[in-house]
Amino acid sequence: MRVGNLYKNQSDPSVSFEFFPPRDDKAESSFYGVVDALSALNPAYMSMTFGAGGSTSEGSFQAVKRMMIEKNLPMVAYIAGYGLGPHEITEVLDRYKALGVETIFVIRGDKPRTDGFTPHPESFAHASDLIRFISDRYDFDLGCAGYPEGHVQAESLEKDVEYLRLKQDNGAQYVVAQYFYDNDSFYRYVDLCRKSGITIPIIPGIMPIYTVKLTRMLCKLCGSTLPTGLREKLDSLTNDKSEAVADLGVNFAFDQCRDLVLKGVDGLHFYTMDRSGSVLKIVQRLKDDGLFK
Ligand SMILES: Cc1cc2nc3c(=O)[nH]c(=O)nc-3n(C[C@H](O)[C@H](O)[C@H](O)COP(=O)(O)OP(=O)(O)OC[C@H]3O[C@@H](n4cnc5c(N)ncnc54)[C@H](O)[C@@H]3O)c2cc1C
Repeated sequence: MRVGNLYKNQSDPSVSFEFFPPRDDKAESSFYGVVDALSALNPAYMSMTFGAGGSTSEGSFQAVKRMMIEKNLPMVAYIAGYGLGPHEITEVLDRYKALGVETIFVIRGDKPRTDGFTPHPESFAHASDLIRFISDRYDFDLGCAGYPEGHVQAESLEKDVEYLRLKQDNGAQYVVAQYFYDNDSFYRYVDLCRKSGITIPIIPGIMPIYTVKLTRMLCKLCGSTLPTGLREKLDSLTNDKSEAVADLGVNFAFDQCRDLVLKGVDGLHFYTMDRSGSVLKIVQRLKDDGLFK
């Protein structure tokens, strides 16, 4: 699966689903049920995250392998460079290449929360450096991350976009955007990127609201704003396990996706959090409305 070509050649927008590798045997037994359920929606590809500092390197590889070989699914593998030396990076990439993976999503990653992690002295400071390192050595299609509201450590949104341009110039062929709950922030971001000479596809990331607690925690971590109206609705839902929370998440994401598709995005990338219920409902409703094939 070459994602660079996907967006060039498609006549209609596509969906993709992101997973993280199952943490243990118990998680693994439900994980493949989720994958099977979502593969019925015919996504353009599925993707597998990579834990900072190489923490999930083996688990990510095994999951990608099983999904490609046993389930014949179009896969994208991720690599997060934080703390890894050039040799550790090429070891990971050589295995993916031998497996037949054709697209790598390249991110810097963050300092692992585990104690005692010592970064390799030659590790890559920025995703753009890692993208250059990979594009000089491999024939993978490469993706990179963008941040419609600015990365949490960015000096400014403008500077962040300048660095996104560097990722494109160093070989990235598409961007997946951090999730957002206000589509206007995405449209403004795309405008700013285009004015800055970024021409590659920018695919919106969609994070349905799964639970209120998770949503609040992730928004803080990722720097995504909860618009006032949505925050008030969430505040009014006292039982986080209730159907009402999941329904609100599905309805909100459906409206968000509908607007994005009608405005002409090339695709929708869902952060599934290894769950299938909400994404199945959202994508099925988009299909029923004729917005997706
Ligand atoms: C779609 C998506 C998928 C993700 N998947 C994973 C995953 O699988 N595993 C994981 O660990 N994390 C993942 N992340 C999180 C990501 O690793 C973090 O957001 C991380 O903090 C930044 O990664 P980056 O690739 O955007 O870094 P960079 O592009 O390196 O940017 C990081 C910061 O440095 C600044 N910067 C960039 N280049 C320069 C430069 N040349 N000079 C000075 N400053 C610069 C930027 O403005 C930004 O503030 C994902 C994020 C997204 C949006």
